[in-house]
Amino acid sequence: MDMMNIAERKLQTMRVLDGQRALVTGANSGIGEGVARALAEAGAKVAVNFVAAPEKAQQVVDEIRQAGGVAMAVRADVSKEDEVRAMFAQTIDAWGSVDILVNNAGLQRDAPLQEMSLRDWQFVLDVNLTGQFLCAREAVREFLRRGIVPELSLAAGKIICMSSVHDVIPWAGHANYAASKGGVSMLMKTMAQELATKKVRVNAVSPGAIKTPINTDAWATPEAERKLLQLIPYYRVGETHDIAQAVVWLSSDLSDYVNGATLYVDGGMTLYPEFRGNG
Ligand code: NAD
Repeated sequence: MDMMNIAERKLQTMRVLDGQRALVTGANSGIGEGVARALAEAGAKVAVNFVAAPEKAQQVVDEIRQAGGVAMAVRADVSKEDEVRAMFAQTIDAWGSVDILVNNAGLQRDAPLQEMSLRDWQFVLDVNLTGQFLCAREAVREFLRRGIVPELSLAAGKIICMSSVHDVIPWAGHANYAASKGGVSMLMKTMAQELATKKVRVNAVSPGAIKTPINTDAWATPEAERKLLQLIPYYRVGETHDIAQAVVWLSSDLSDYVNGATLYVDGGMTLYPEFRGNG
């Protein structure tokens, strides 16, 4: 067992989310899947949201259950108001409430600016930014209705927004994506400020380069990975559990005084935009 697995196991045994109910969007792939598993291992019941590939969502649910956790799959396109409302109603119906929202669903439609269609611009904004607003609004409505349950958490609810290092580093060829993540950053901070007195905490995680299907081109061949490593001072490409453990911490009372923060989990990518290799 390597050092990373040892650290991960230590955190998992803490069960810092016992009894809490979490909804993770886009949880049938990549980071969302890793987050769903980690939240379950920390003791939360997890609603695994998906929009396509229901069999993949069911597989995540089955594996969480086999490991002794509680999970269910919930379908919704996060950019559709009626579907988001129905998904929250379904989850609250099943488990009584929701304590944690992980706004993770996201996608890319890349093109040089002069070739970017309005359709692709709008599509990315709809999913990555409007989707986070719609899910956060439903979660907040439920947090405010329920209020604090001291046995479960010091907060009335927690929202973790999946952003990106591209909420601060411009990203040529990805104007729609970078604009959506910049928007997520300001949406997160404004919600954190607006809801703090109601004891709702809102934070963001900004991943660097994490090995998932969204960016296979960037790491799947040794040559691509070597090129990517030139941008990462810590000199390894991230894994989904790197992000998942940050989300567990931000969801738990261990981070109770953290509000409106962005946690960059990026091996130092945002420290050295000009970083070009390890020596
Ligand atoms: P991924 O493609 O593996 O997962 C994205 C998930 O979002 C999938 O489950 C997909 O079905 C879902 N999704 C897309 N549109 C949806 C919709 N309309 N409704 C519901 N779900 C929808 O990619 P990932 O890398 O796991 O990305 C997860 C999040 O992390 C995204 O917000 C992405 O922008 C962010 N991120 C990823 C990286 C990285 O390096 N992988 C870096 C920075 C930020």
